Amino acid sequence: MEVLERAYAKLNISLDTPFVHPSGEQEWDMLMVAIDLADTLTIKTTNDHDEIIVESTSGILPLNEKNLAFQAAVVMRNEAHVDEGVEIHIDKRIPVAAGMGGGSSDAAAVLRGLNRIWHLGKTEADLAQIGLQIDADVPFCVYSRPARVTGRGEVVEPLTAKLPPLWLVVSKPAISVSTPKILKLIDYENVEHGNMDKLMAEVNASRFDQAFKAMFNVLEPLTATRFPEIIKLKDKMLQFGADAAQMSGTGPTVFGITTKYSRAKRILNGIKGFVSETYIARIIN
Ligand code: ATP
Repeated sequence: MEVLERAYAKLNISLDTPFVHPSGEQEWDMLMVAIDLADTLTIKTTNDHDEIIVESTSGILPLNEKNLAFQAAVVMRNEAHVDEGVEIHIDKRIPVAAGMGGGSSDAAAVLRGLNRIWHLGKTEADLAQIGLQIDADVPFCVYSRPARVTGRGEVVEPLTAKLPPLWLVVSKPAISVSTPKILKLIDYENVEHGNMDKLMAEVNASRFDQAFKAMFNVLEPLTATRFPEIIKLKDKMLQFGADAAQMSGTGPTVFGITTKYSRAKRILNGIKGFVSETYIARIIN
């Protein structure tokens, strides 16, 4: 049997990391959204019991057990106790190592797809729990709708209110950022935490002007120390009319938010010459 799954990119509308667990894992507090920039995965099972095959249109991805989609297939095969092979084809559209969760989203798509193929009947909450062993962003990617995410990434609370129509201009500078290297730079004694409760209160009350002002990412200053172009890009987005602009995850992707499509076009045209990998995206609501 063969299924198609969309793996949506994620953005961190806000990101805090309150502390690190004795195990070394981060505690997170994030407002996350999925956007309509997506990989497409074709997932099928085969009679070749031992084999998991990953193919991709991207020339730069590992296709072995280092691929998060491969890891998801291993985990689901153990859950299902089946003796079948899995073939996964990834049509890659999400920029790699961008802070947009491409690997995690591919893994979540494999969890959802194999859940369907093998009729396992697992809920989103079950898949989120299973996904946590692959990466902290996988639980959110199982849901792929606006949510506050806490714990090690496994507590996903989808927003009850719908977000208004928002346009996002998403721009990935041509630099590579290593997530582990940025996380090592966090100085927990001196982190300037944002106020996630206030942000959530503004979002839940649909006071979006206030919500835009309350957005933050505690990792942004760390990545920006190494790559000052991140701040330049943010400033340009604001200059061209974004209501708010910020780095996602550990970067380097920066996004600008606006409530008007015409303004998103203006930002896109203004940024394009500066960073070629720039898109207009919508939130999956
Ligand atoms: P992180 O979750 O580390 O913040 P990211 O969102 O910045 O990641 P990804 O596109 O997930 O970026 O890539 C991070 C790393 O994961 C890359 O070095 C890549 O080689 C590896 N990786 C493994 N599997 C995948 C996959 N299916 N898609 C993209 N990257 C993958």
